[in-house]
Amino acid sequence: MSERDGESFRALAENCGYVPALRREEADLVVVTTCCVRESAENRIMGNIGQLSRWKAERPGRLLAVAGCLVQQEGALENLRRRAPHVDIWIGAFEQEKFTDLLQAGGGSAVYPSPLRAGPAREPAPLAELGKISAAVNIMYGCDNHCAYCVVPQVRGPERSRAPQDVLEEITSLAAAGAREVVLLGQNVNSYGRAEGWREDFAWLLRAAARVPGLWRVRFTTSHPRDLPEALIAAAAEEAAVCPHFHLPLQSGSDRVLRAMNRGYTAAYYLERVGAIRRALPEARISTDIIVGFPGETEADFAETLRLVREARFSQAFTFMYSRRSGTAAADMPGQVPRPERRERLQRLTEAQAEMSLAWRRSLVGFRQEVLVTGPSKKNAALLSGLTAGREITVFPGREADVGTLVPVLIKEVNSWTMFGEIIR
Ligand code: SAH
Ligand code: SF4
Repeated sequence: MSERDGESFRALAENCGYVPALRREEADLVVVTTCCVRESAENRIMGNIGQLSRWKAERPGRLLAVAGCLVQQEGALENLRRRAPHVDIWIGAFEQEKFTDLLQAGGGSAVYPSPLRAGPAREPAPLAELGKISAAVNIMYGCDNHCAYCVVPQVRGPERSRAPQDVLEEITSLAAAGAREVVLLGQNVNSYGRAEGWREDFAWLLRAAARVPGLWRVRFTTSHPRDLPEALIAAAAEEAAVCPHFHLPLQSGSDRVLRAMNRGYTAAYYLERVGAIRRALPEARISTDIIVGFPGETEADFAETLRLVREARFSQAFTFMYSRRSGTAAADMPGQVPRPERRERLQRLTEAQAEMSLAWRRSLVGFRQEVLVTGPSKKNAALLSGLTAGREITVFPGREADVGTLVPVLIKEVNSWTMFGEIIR
């Protein structure tokens, strides 16, 4: 989502006559898009912004803008201004449309006054001209859930969906400009159009997106496990262009912790949903997010998470150490887990999942996978790189003309991160 925000700012800057710089030293403008969902992200961003003070001092007239969640946090702007006085433009999560004015004025700030009210549900900039093979499309903003650890509803506001015709128009123009894959983005895509009371639900939108001419693949993220509907599983199973991949954040395998997190499902219910996906789509990839060290999490709770990780056979898991976010329900809960313990659990969880990811990838060796070729491999420009329907990065020899096409690849070797193979010609 932050990447998509960055693309909007790039498009808005291009409308004002800027052109992309290849290196930071050549740039006249840098926009930093921020995320405050975890403390580590916040610290890294503050470090990056600090380093940019040298870049700014090197040439007069350079502009530094900081955008996104960090700026939107309640009362954050004053503190941020003090910590980073060299920043010219501050822009909150709802105010992207004001970027052009601030850019032309050469500085200033725009932060939505009350993040609890709904901000706009439209994109500030069309992106078709970026000509990406795989493009992200926001279908909704904000979140109406109250997961006890999460700051997103505070900084991104209540849930609001973009009108189906706006989403489909954007996808159509992306496909006309050469996009072959789109990733539909929302904090919980399952509830698309629910707050608005629309007849068009997410399963409908997914089917409509899958039929846009020129588009080969449609992905989506994130689905809340609590309300993953049968109609969505059916749409994924029946529409050839929909990738058989569900990102279904688990967060914890312990019912006690799930209840404290206010997630609204049990471990057994989660596994039942995983089963429903696998029954309809035996080749489906299921990836997840997991938090370790939520307040009150005991060693026994953590063991349940490890057990579920082994049982669910995730193709990939994003694993996080719980971080305390002010203003969330969990921030004041008793039983905050000391950092060394959180770190140790994270290590064990990451190792367990690495084994599972490798086992999953090994099971693909000797099989053919359709790969969307995205460009030369980052590590070795003589090879091509692409993505399977399950978003596994796959590297293989090929020709420049293969870029932007879908090729059948025989998988020969894998490690935890990458698969290697050969095109079947
Ligand atoms: N809407 C998505 C997730 C958005 S945040 C969903 O419901 O799944 C992405 C991930 O960050 C979450 O799934 C969670 O695993 C993690 N996360 C959110 N808040 C966190 C916190 N305070 N500490 C650690 N991880 C957190
Ligand atoms: Fe945060 Fe929960 Fe909303 Fe996801 S569903 S953004 S974790 S509050």
